[in-house]
Amino acid sequence: MSDNMYSKFLKPVILVFLLVNLAKAQNKTDFFVEKPFQVPSYLLNNAEKLAKNLAKDQDVLDEKEAEEMYKNSFYILKERVNTGELYFSNELTDYLTKIVDDLLLNEGSLKGKIRVFLTRNPQVNAFCLPDGTILVNVGLLNVLENESQLAGILCHEITHYKKQHALNQRKKNKDLKDQKYSNTSSEGVLFKMLSYSRENEFESDAGAVNILNGGKYNAAEYPNALKFLMEEQKDTLKGSLSDFFNTDVFTVDTAIVSKKNVKKELNKSVSRSKSLLKLGDVEYETHPDGEKRILAVKEILTSIEYKEPAKLDNTEFANLKRKAEFETVENAYLEGEYITALLLSLKLKEKNPTSETAEVMIVKNLFWLSRLKENGVMNDFLGKVEVNKSADMARLKLFFDKTKAPDLGKFLFTYTKKQLERFPENESIAFYVAAAAELHLGKDAALVFYKKYNTKFPSGDYSVYIKNKID
Ligand SMILES: [Zn+2]
Repeated sequence: MSDNMYSKFLKPVILVFLLVNLAKAQNKTDFFVEKPFQVPSYLLNNAEKLAKNLAKDQDVLDEKEAEEMYKNSFYILKERVNTGELYFSNELTDYLTKIVDDLLLNEGSLKGKIRVFLTRNPQVNAFCLPDGTILVNVGLLNVLENESQLAGILCHEITHYKKQHALNQRKKNKDLKDQKYSNTSSEGVLFKMLSYSRENEFESDAGAVNILNGGKYNAAEYPNALKFLMEEQKDTLKGSLSDFFNTDVFTVDTAIVSKKNVKKELNKSVSRSKSLLKLGDVEYETHPDGEKRILAVKEILTSIEYKEPAKLDNTEFANLKRKAEFETVENAYLEGEYITALLLSLKLKEKNPTSETAEVMIVKNLFWLSRLKENGVMNDFLGKVEVNKSADMARLKLFFDKTKAPDLGKFLFTYTKKQLERFPENESIAFYVAAAAELHLGKDAALVFYKKYNTKFPSGDYSVYIKNKID
């Protein structure tokens, strides 16, 4: 896939599950509820033994080399388990597993060999590890439109495994032999392992059509899925960003986010991504040759005189996609990617204008951004924010860069207070109003708001923190 606004999401996700659950407690229907689970033992302590067995089972590489490869892929998985990046058991994981089981109905030899896990990564992507573990990023759901598209992507990954692409690629690419694997810094290695060759990608696309054809999923949706996977993240915000910038209580200096400045910011971002490419950042190109692949798939569909199956009910997919969108924003927030999270939450608000969850997300990201400004670390923070050709990202970045701390404090406070008028029973928003008051008006004035919160939500999620403030 190509660069998009999330392409820098490559650091480990460190999550405190308790915190996540606290944040989500009020709005269960907007998020995936993790069911009690046991981490599969092969992910934690049977990796070496399992790698040995898998190595015996293949005939592409010599056993030692295959064993090393499998072991490394288990290390990568284990690291993701430890950082909390994988979801194990929720409705989306169950749903993915159900689709994979359906797809493997006529693939007897693959049964029981393929597992699918969901990751918290917002990047639009899916991978297949050499041992048959498919990782689907929650961000993928954000762009797909229906279950057939998702099934298509899963078939592509299944084919990578079926054709043993990882092992074959390793055999071909002697450079990889010199690659020093370690269990500490694995993202780069992961991408290298998954940088399949062009032929492998074309072969997996053809394989995907082959598995889909004749089943209940519509193979004609697969090229659409490919298009979404490769496309830049388009700016889709219509009115809400300008609404956000111009509330009736605070008007942003429009010169800051003028077209000219946005263009400048975008150009900076383009030249930065070019220089990154020059440094040989090729491992991120896990899905090269997008256009050609789409054409090739369409040719195949024509040559087999493909007939579409009956239309599928898309309700379950749509419901899970909506939750995936909320999860993606929450994950970006927990990652400290406040600008991305703010932009995504504004998009959520546009789609779900009456959603309290979306508003809470806007408010808390705005709060943390104002805190960064107040603490004088906004420059450092923004230095790491990639605009990646998104004009909306550029606008937000400029806004937080150029707006002075007192103005930002005022904006935060007035914006948040206005949201509390919309949702007076929302505890999170009430809390952030008090916290914003402290930032904007100082501790003494904020006491009024802390006391108000304490009266209304005496045993709320933030009550311990608030009591410390009052005492
Ligand atoms: Zn692929």
